[in-house]
Amino acid sequence: MAQVIDGKERAKQLRKELKGRVSEFTEQAGHPPGLGVLLVGGDPASAVYVRNKERACEKVGIRSFHHQLPDDATQEQVEEVIDQLNADPHVHGILLQLPLPAHLDAEPLLLRILPEKDADGFHPVNVGHLAVGQPTFVPCTPLGCIDLLRSAGVEMTGAEAVVVGRSNIVGKPAAQLLLAEGATVTICHSRTKDLAAHVGRADIVVAAVGVPEMIQGEWIKEGAAVIDVGINRLDDGRLVGDVDYESASNRAACITPVPGGVGPMTVAKLLENTLEGAIRHEESKRKTV
Ligand code: NDP
Repeated sequence: MAQVIDGKERAKQLRKELKGRVSEFTEQAGHPPGLGVLLVGGDPASAVYVRNKERACEKVGIRSFHHQLPDDATQEQVEEVIDQLNADPHVHGILLQLPLPAHLDAEPLLLRILPEKDADGFHPVNVGHLAVGQPTFVPCTPLGCIDLLRSAGVEMTGAEAVVVGRSNIVGKPAAQLLLAEGATVTICHSRTKDLAAHVGRADIVVAAVGVPEMIQGEWIKEGAAVIDVGINRLDDGRLVGDVDYESASNRAACITPVPGGVGPMTVAKLLENTLEGAIRHEESKRKTV
């Protein structure tokens, strides 16, 4: 049976470390790191995510600045709040909770967030920094995947890694990070021929598809590490990943469960990104003095 990679426990440990680092930062800078959170509309799932993120901030000593706009907010109103957060020296990271109501255009809004405050790492400037290996904001979920692999003692250098999914928020940045770790990376997607054959060669599988239990246990190479990013709710209310957990854990050396795997790491990495943003901000202030 595979070793279970406990994301809940690792995230707890990470939050504890962060609390110490945040308190050190606050003492030196004279103010805490700050995260600006903007929620547009009343989507209940988004409201829960935002509340969780704000509570997590509070617990480690990061100040959160909550902004709520109604369902019928205009593009200009959202822009105004982003501009306000961009200009606020107490805000070091900005989070625009997605998805936005359908009448709003997310892309120009994400572009409007200053790259140096883009705590989610979605701005093309930060995507470029990641591609060329410069320090930057990196999307939180892929950061969580790499952290879990490292904490499970998985050797990434020289490993065959297969990432299933090529989204800008998970698949592509996860592939970039694995590449930076020295893995040989294949990215699969809906047009990939013979997905099972690709997965079957992988020492590391990262599944970010959004199709419940699509990746079969018999595809997995004996002794592989499996990171399941998928969060899918079944009709009977159960939450499952993109990997068939039962059969995959008979072959893998280690595997993340759903829930309790990658999910808790995403929030912990958002906190870490906000602190790193605040540290970079203080450093750049010192350089310009
Ligand atoms: P997207 O829908 O943006 O991307 C899904 C990717 O999977 C696409 O690249 C798509 O290919 C590919 N895909 C779809 N069907 C298949 C298939 N049959 N075979 C191979 N590839 C396929 O999803 P996200 O990346 O945003 O999210 C993926 C999953 O991760 C979801 O379940 C989501 O809920 C979860 N998630 C979890 C987070 C966490 O904190 N744990 C955070 C973010 C997401 P193509 O590009 O060709 O269409």
